[in-house]
Parts: sequence; C-alpha cells; structure tokens
Amino acid sequence: MSAAGGTYALLLTLEKDYLVEVGRLGSLHFQPGHYIYVGRARRRLFSRIKAHLHLHQRPHWHIDYLRQRAGVTGLWWALTPEPQECLWSQAVLSLPGALVPRPRFGASDCRCLTHLVYFNTAPSPSLFRRHLAKLGGQVPVHVWAEKELAEQMEYTRECRGR
Ligand SMILES: [Zn+2]
Repeated sequence: MSAAGGTYALLLTLEKDYLVEVGRLGSLHFQPGHYIYVGRARRRLFSRIKAHLHLHQRPHWHIDYLRQRAGVTGLWWALTPEPQECLWSQAVLSLPGALVPRPRFGASDCRCLTHLVYFNTAPSPSLFRRHLAKLGGQVPVHVWAEKELAEQMEYTRECRGR
C-alpha cells in the first residue's frame, strides 16, 4: 500500500461504563457511547490505521488504552501531505452533541483542547465533511464502515499469522 502520510478519525464504540487507566492522564471514566479520536501519520497512514485496529499488550498512545475496551466501528481518512489533525479535531468538536471526555487527551503536543470527542449518537461522515470544508480542510475524506474494517482486520491477521 501507499507510503503516504495522512489524517484519520477513528470511531470507537463503548458498550458500557469503564474506568480506564490512561498513562499519565491517570484513571479516567468513560461512559457508554461513541468516541472519535483524531490523529495523523507523517507517513504510512495505513500502517498507523492497522496499528489502531490491533489490540496492544503495551499501550503507547493515549488512545491505545481506550482501544482495549472499545470496538472500532468506523474510520474516516484522507491522504494529506500537510498535517490536518488539529483542523479535523476542530471540525469534530463543532459537530452537534460533541462533548470533551478529558481535556488534552491525544493532544499533548499541540494547542487543541482535545483530540478525543464523545457523542451520544455517532455523527455522520457527510456532516463531518461539511464542517471540515467550512474550516478549509482538504477533501476528499474517505469512509470505512464495518465491511472495509473487517477486511482490514482480516488482512492484518493473515499477515501476522505467517
Ligand atoms: Zn491538535
């Protein structure tokens, strides 16, 4: 696959309440619902995405801790030569119903309030695209739903099995 970098939004769904130990952020309470985490990869976007699809024994990023409890239910991505993750976070935060579970989550190296946003009802990618375009974000934004995610997970399993 392409070695290009890009920006992505990982959609996670939590079925029930969890108290999760998130590295230096400490013990955080997560309520059931939908979480959108925005990140980017300088290069090899798809390797980063696959790393999120896997469960890690040793979490590295803030999001890895939440990922241990939450299922991936969607993914939005774009090949962006320039970093766009802060713009994407702003766009996600501007969606109706957006709540901030914990300030600074995933945003240790930038000025954003957060790179993790909570929603009671999962927002639609088309609305996200409109909000992103309004902020001057680069399009197109591609969407992976269940089918594409399942294919990617299957593919990664095969690779690791060899
Ligand atoms: Zn940021």
